[in-house]
Amino acid sequence: MTPHHTTWFPIPEHSDFSIYNLPFGIFSTPDRTPRVGIAIGEHIIDLADLAQSGLWDNIAPASVFEQNTLNAFIRLGKKTTSAVRLKVQELLCDPESPLKSVMDGRFFVAQSEATMYLPVEIGDYTDFYSSIEHATNVGKMFRDPANALLPNWRHLPVGYHGRASSIVVSGTPIRRPHGQVLPKGAEVPVFQASARLDFELEMAFIIGKDTPMGATIATADAEEYIFGMVLFNDWSARDIQAWEYVPLGPFLGKNFGSSVSPWVVTLDALEPFRVPGPTQEPQPLPYLQCDRPANYDIALEVSITPENSTETVVCRSNFKYMYWNMPQQLAHHTVNGCNVRVGDLMASGTISGSTEDSFGSMLELAWQGTKPLPMSDGTERVFIRDLDTVTMRGHAEKDGIRVGFGEVTGKVLGV
Ligand code: MN
Repeated sequence: MTPHHTTWFPIPEHSDFSIYNLPFGIFSTPDRTPRVGIAIGEHIIDLADLAQSGLWDNIAPASVFEQNTLNAFIRLGKKTTSAVRLKVQELLCDPESPLKSVMDGRFFVAQSEATMYLPVEIGDYTDFYSSIEHATNVGKMFRDPANALLPNWRHLPVGYHGRASSIVVSGTPIRRPHGQVLPKGAEVPVFQASARLDFELEMAFIIGKDTPMGATIATADAEEYIFGMVLFNDWSARDIQAWEYVPLGPFLGKNFGSSVSPWVVTLDALEPFRVPGPTQEPQPLPYLQCDRPANYDIALEVSITPENSTETVVCRSNFKYMYWNMPQQLAHHTVNGCNVRVGDLMASGTISGSTEDSFGSMLELAWQGTKPLPMSDGTERVFIRDLDTVTMRGHAEKDGIRVGFGEVTGKVLGV
């Protein structure tokens, strides 16, 4: 059980950003350049100012906090980044904390007044396909309902290399892509705006430590290489994807945009929510075996908000449903000697559960357009329309301790 912490700092009940969380992000205000901060309640602690202040022992060089990405900070290693987080927790709990006397705002910024940025410079981006429910649903729709999973699926975490250049922070609008699509019954494609724009509910982890080329990461060591996690919306154009993906996999149906939440929640903060994953049958090869639970109980939801309307929650899922866990994904990714670098981002793949309301994409929720979803304003959706805003939220909660991710949101612009 996690030791109880009491902070003097005012935090609203049910805040994602409790004293147990303390996630890292990059923010600015009109009078503060982009810099590293920690979210607490409805505020941000300015670590660049804190590091300069002399209030804080020299745990880490001040320069790493005056950056517009977390990469330099993460590169210091977990020993340092964990110590920074624990020091901030201590300062927020100490009744005699020097931070208390400067509540005039020097170190604290309201989140409502801050602009958030992509938290890391992402070098390489990989997307896995690790939910068995999602892979089964897609297999049923596009291939053979009787043999939905391909023969490799239960033996390795299937994935593909995506594109980092179009990963954007929450709040960035996404333009509906154009591309080649094959109309139903047609033999030749047409060029048009995607008519099947979708979201994919995913989470992603950020690499916290480099490996040299040729090295492998064992499942037992994998968490040493994972700095933290974010929510991830892997926007997908299903009609473009369906025509282009054979035989090499996803391409333009995926790389026009993906959205991430701005706060990176550390594995340290997620530790109380560790749970066993689904039974893996058959047992994977030795390099993929894990000797301890490596899933996390993180409740996830997706909502759609039509323009000038109220939001409708269309999906409730959970990260614990993942068949392949993060250590297995990382062990597989590096088993051939592929190197990883600080800031690389590895996404889970769509996170679907077993019930129809837990499917992590419109493709599955509306089952290829055959089961329209009602919105609170009386309209229906089978895919995402122009000016719809898609919002994903995630949080873990246990024994009164809440650790959340905030949200990742994005509005679809027409063409
Ligand atoms: Mn995906």
